[in-house]
Formats: sequence, structure tokens, C-alpha cells
Amino acid sequence: MEKCACCFVDQIDGFDGWEDYKLFLKKIDQLISENILTEIPIDIKYQKEANFFTTGKWFKCTKCGKCWRLVEPDPPLRGLWVPLPKHIKPLPNRKYRWK
Ligand SMILES: [Zn+2]
Repeated sequence: MEKCACCFVDQIDGFDGWEDYKLFLKKIDQLISENILTEIPIDIKYQKEANFFTTGKWFKCTKCGKCWRLVEPDPPLRGLWVPLPKHIKPLPNRKYRWK
């Protein structure tokens, strides 16, 4: 079980239903509003490596720099909240480019 060094939240290997997932999203929103978490762009170069790296959303802890991946439940898959593999370096902080 991996933890953020700041211990704000544990790894989750599957949500216990939509209510559980929605509660977790609220927690994420709260952490973002407190500037503890920030959403970071997904680096599409990892798409070739493994498709699942690009699904969901990526977040970075502003305290310790640890990066996390959130995957929405897609029954029967129960969703995930897991650290990004260490070899994946997040892109520099910048706004999304939509073009
Ligand atoms: Zn942290």
C-alpha cells in the first residue's frame, strides 16, 4: 500500500460503488481547493507504452510532488487511485493546450 508522503490519501484499488467514488471526488475537489493537489496534463507519449496510462486524470501533490492517477469506475472495473509509475515524469506545470 503506497502512500503520499503527506499522507493525504491512501492508494485505492477499487471503489465500493458510485457513492464511494463520488465521496472520493469530493475529497479530491477539497484538496484541490486547498492547493494540496493540482491536476496535471496527461503525457500522451505514454500511450504507446500502455493505453491505460492515459485514461482518467492525473494529479500532483503540491507538498511532496508525488503524482497520482485517478480512474473512474467502469463496471465491472472498480476504478483506481494509484501513484504514477516512478519513471513517468509529469510535464512541466502549464495550462492545457486544446488545439
Ligand atoms: Zn504529498
